[in-house]
Amino acid sequence: MNYLNSVVDLIGNTPMIKLRHVVDQGQGLVLAKLESANPGGSVKDRIGIRMIDAAEREGKIKPGGLIIEPTSGNTGIGLVLAAIQKGYRSLFVMTDKASVERVRYLKAMGADVLIVPSAAKPSSPEYYYNTAQRLAREIPNAIMLNQYDNPANPEAHYYGTGPEIWEQTEGKITHFVAGIGTGGTISGCGRFLKEKNPDITVIAADPTGSSLKTYKDTGRLVESLPYLIEGVGQERIPGNLHFEFVDEVINVNDRDAFAMARRMAREEGIFCGGSTGMNLVVAARKAKDLKEGDVMVVIVCDTGERYLTKHHSDEWLQEKGFLESEKVTLQVVLQLRGRSGGAALIAATPEMTVREALDLMNQKGFSQLPVMEDGKSVGSLRDNRVMTAVLSDRNLLESHVREVMEPSFPVVAHTTDVSNAIRYLKDARAILIEDYGIITGILTRHDLVEFT
Ligand code: PMP
Repeated sequence: MNYLNSVVDLIGNTPMIKLRHVVDQGQGLVLAKLESANPGGSVKDRIGIRMIDAAEREGKIKPGGLIIEPTSGNTGIGLVLAAIQKGYRSLFVMTDKASVERVRYLKAMGADVLIVPSAAKPSSPEYYYNTAQRLAREIPNAIMLNQYDNPANPEAHYYGTGPEIWEQTEGKITHFVAGIGTGGTISGCGRFLKEKNPDITVIAADPTGSSLKTYKDTGRLVESLPYLIEGVGQERIPGNLHFEFVDEVINVNDRDAFAMARRMAREEGIFCGGSTGMNLVVAARKAKDLKEGDVMVVIVCDTGERYLTKHHSDEWLQEKGFLESEKVTLQVVLQLRGRSGGAALIAATPEMTVREALDLMNQKGFSQLPVMEDGKSVGSLRDNRVMTAVLSDRNLLESHVREVMEPSFPVVAHTTDVSNAIRYLKDARAILIEDYGIITGILTRHDLVEFT
């Protein structure tokens, strides 16, 4: 029979895939190492089981113990996967920057999660790392495995990821690109690969705002600035970061990293997070110069499913100012206005009386209404026009809307960019939004004015 003993046996031996569109390969070959294919969806599955095994060997954890870890989420998922097999409980300390998907994921797997402010500095007791350390001291039979300093973290890559890459490329790898969170991936893989072949170039990607690049280049530890890419970059130097195995650090800003993560989904069909987008931007910058026979390996750190409410959402990108206004679609505006997802479109019918239609406008505070029949837009009403008519002929109040209505508002596809939709509003008060033949919403001049 062909089966595994537990989900932990699925960790590692991740595939590599040639990148065909997002990176210009120069004369060489660029391969993505798909750590998102681990059962917990990230590179961190590898260190979860390894750190727990090491703690057991060293007698640091007793049956029924509590594992506490400060994590941006992925290490938590890797740890909880392994902790479940071994009967340990887990508590993760995360910052309010962590995506809601990860927090829910951890809770769904039975872990406890404590959220602390991401604004807390390393000197503050509230800092996520300090909070986890304090709890591990105070709670009996609790242990903090400490991915930042625990040697089992880089060892997972020295004995796992690194050798896999070497074998998968038949020793032909010439360039390695990864990010730095704890430094485990880059230090473990970097050390293994350089021992095999000192000529291999190890390149680290670092978010603009993180202190790591300046530290590598100048030896000075400057204060970090905020950025939005999750799981990478640092404001201090983790014990597991061994810069001697890193040749160069390159900064990437949030916008470029997120744009690249989205291209990866759309152009390669590989769904990844922002730290992978960051790695790919560095790969793309460097790969142009690859020579014949060069092989670059880039780490795909985690799955994009973890960021569906973040950089894989148009609304979030728009809110953070990452979407150009000419690329904002009417669907996005509807969503930002809270009027998508089945909110009923308020409309008059041709058979309503004018009085009923005016009451409806009054009650909703609308100054216009579409007139709909059998799901189609057949006309429109403007309150000032109708009122003017009624004031000169009161009998009109009992007439049907059909008799007084004006032509329909323009019907525009939901995929239309705001900048292309504006022209309809020069003549019309509002536009109706159509999604596969169904009218799903209405946008007024007022709704669109801030997007122009
Ligand atoms: N990307 C993401 C999303 C991560 O969570 C992490 C780990 N914090 C990394 C990249 C970096 O990995 P490492 O800790 O091995 O440096």
